[in-house]
Amino acid sequence: MKRRFSSYHARAPICLGCALALLFACCREYKERKPTESVKSKPTVVTNLENAANCGCAARELIFANAALGISTCEKKVPADRTINSIRNELIAAAQAVGGELTQVDVEEAVKLAADVRNESGFYALLIDRAGHFCGLHGVIEVDGKRFSQVTHGDFGLQLLPEESMTNGNFRETWICQNNRGVVHIPLGEAILAVDGTIRNFGEVLPLAELSASFKFQNCSAHAIVLCKPQTTCGCVVPSMDGNATLLPGENYDLRISIQSGTSESFTQKVHMKCWDTETGKSRDFSLELFGNRRAAMVIEPRSLKFGTVREGKTSSRTLFLIETKTDRFRVESLSCDDANLKWEQTRREYDNHLSRYDFLFTIKAGKRYGRSTGQIEILTTSKQYPVVKIPIEYTVEPPFSLTPKLLTFEKVTVGETKSLPVKLSPYDYDDVLVKMHEAPGEISIDKDKNSGTYYITFSPNRQGLWEGEINLELLKDDVKVLQTIKCVANVQ
Ligand SMILES: [Zn+2]
Repeated sequence: MKRRFSSYHARAPICLGCALALLFACCREYKERKPTESVKSKPTVVTNLENAANCGCAARELIFANAALGISTCEKKVPADRTINSIRNELIAAAQAVGGELTQVDVEEAVKLAADVRNESGFYALLIDRAGHFCGLHGVIEVDGKRFSQVTHGDFGLQLLPEESMTNGNFRETWICQNNRGVVHIPLGEAILAVDGTIRNFGEVLPLAELSASFKFQNCSAHAIVLCKPQTTCGCVVPSMDGNATLLPGENYDLRISIQSGTSESFTQKVHMKCWDTETGKSRDFSLELFGNRRAAMVIEPRSLKFGTVREGKTSSRTLFLIETKTDRFRVESLSCDDANLKWEQTRREYDNHLSRYDFLFTIKAGKRYGRSTGQIEILTTSKQYPVVKIPIEYTVEPPFSLTPKLLTFEKVTVGETKSLPVKLSPYDYDDVLVKMHEAPGEISIDKDKNSGTYYITFSPNRQGLWEGEINLELLKDDVKVLQTIKCVANVQ
């Protein structure tokens, strides 16, 4: 059911209770609420709802709406107390003035039409939700046969909404804004600069994709117009223009904008432009907008597994989650790891909306290779975005026993005297470990106290000054041999 602006009539009012759904949390699922017959007969209830929500979305969406109708407008704040009715009338007047077409449809129909539009600058429908928020439908992306709508809500960015969020009755009005001229006019007093659209929607993009769009400008006036060098707010947006360009009457100018999509789920980039009429001096700021969506991939948490320091023979465990998203459903096919000391358990849980969460409990059992170890886990999935999930692992194996401290500070010692400091075995339950000096400076010796079983390092300096040395020790128990270094420092008087 289509309604042209000329045949527009106020729609039946909707109850207060239905106004709960705010589009702030666009991705949130809304329960189905439909206006009831009984409320339709109480128009007075609706007065408050007729005010536009004051989050600023109306101002921004009206710029989109006007651009889609064929006219570039400056950004201006829409006062909070403006009624939806007055905004609607303004838009209807704008459509009439620029020869654009404003058509009221059901949101379902708008989604269907948006899905059929394939070019980058093609579609815009203004959506008004029950709480008076203004949103924009820019396109539809199909993921595994399901439709996801690209929806803006003022400055809140671009969201991908599943079909059920679009059709659950939260949008009370949908207006398709269409431009019959094929160009957008940027008015400069009497003069006009035309461009073949100010919006480029790349639809679904891959992460880190290199994209580019061209904007064709034409000077449709009798005066020369200067197009100033574009200003961007991100280094990933590069305009082909490196200075101002002067367009003589009738002249064309092609502006190319290159953009890197990044890795976030959606990107919106504004290119700030300015032009001025060389004869009247009238100028105008306007912006070009480029955006696209990347489908939300599975959540991988964490991206690497650090097991910390594990004593030989002991274990350390960490958990990894792979979580489905609506746009990335998958099964886990197999798992492998290049470190034979790693074992794992896998469980699958269902949560919110029958999405799956895979929990992996990884346990590392430290072997005899002391020091830092690294490896990689590979999980094969049926995900289109992450068919192979690679998780680096890292851990450090400590010998089963060692001497502490690793640094001995003798502080002040006088030449001719000796000073002894204890070194203790850790953990303490290894009391029958044999400690042998392997290599040490002549000033150092090691002894075991026969009563307590404690080892002492004795320092006998023979010259004054700051002294530093290293002792290499062998720790032996049964078939285990651990090499250890202890550093010594002293201030010899
Ligand atoms: Zn809003």
